Amino acid sequence: MRTPRSSRSAVPAQRPRGRDRTGRELPKVLFISCTESRLVPQRFVADPDQMYEVRNIGNIVLPYNPRIVSGDIATIEYALTLPDLKDVVISGHSGCAAVAALLAQKSVSSSMRRWLFVGNSRTASREAVGSRAGADLDADAYDRAARAHLLTQLANLAGYPGLESGRRGGDLRLRALFHSAQTGSTDIYSPRDDSFVPLTRQVPSAAR
Ligand SMILES: [Zn+2]
Repeated sequence: MRTPRSSRSAVPAQRPRGRDRTGRELPKVLFISCTESRLVPQRFVADPDQMYEVRNIGNIVLPYNPRIVSGDIATIEYALTLPDLKDVVISGHSGCAAVAALLAQKSVSSSMRRWLFVGNSRTASREAVGSRAGADLDADAYDRAARAHLLTQLANLAGYPGLESGRRGGDLRLRALFHSAQTGSTDIYSPRDDSFVPLTRQVPSAAR
């Protein structure tokens, strides 16, 4: 039997939870990563079509500041309002040109220097290599600096709306991934161990 026109208009259709107006599932993962071409975020996410993405050189999370115009800040701020968001992932990598510039191993343009400055990680990166900053560094030293830089960006996230008060602390996981281009391996930061451990499963199913 056909539904009378009047009753169809009187009861608006309920949108299924977790779906947008077109029926697509809402994003569950916000993935922030460096623009490095060998870093492929889709590899680390169980459902890439449910991923919001922010990419910039150095995988920098600008400290939250609503007074400045920034596409990255606006995108992160918006993503954090999505009701089904479960994970925010920041991914760095070995051999990052931005980290080399932080360690004064590479000369860069003034705009790049200013960009790296706002990431707030110069001190942490240099401390990670000790007194050797500016001298010749091996791959391990670079990786220590890159991980320190990455964890600083994770800390920068804490100032974003909803995260600074811990409001979403229970249902939103903040993760840091470090990808080694040399070995092809990826580690995830474990707050419990305060160290990076091998990533064994894709996000969001990775439990650490
Ligand atoms: Zn990079």
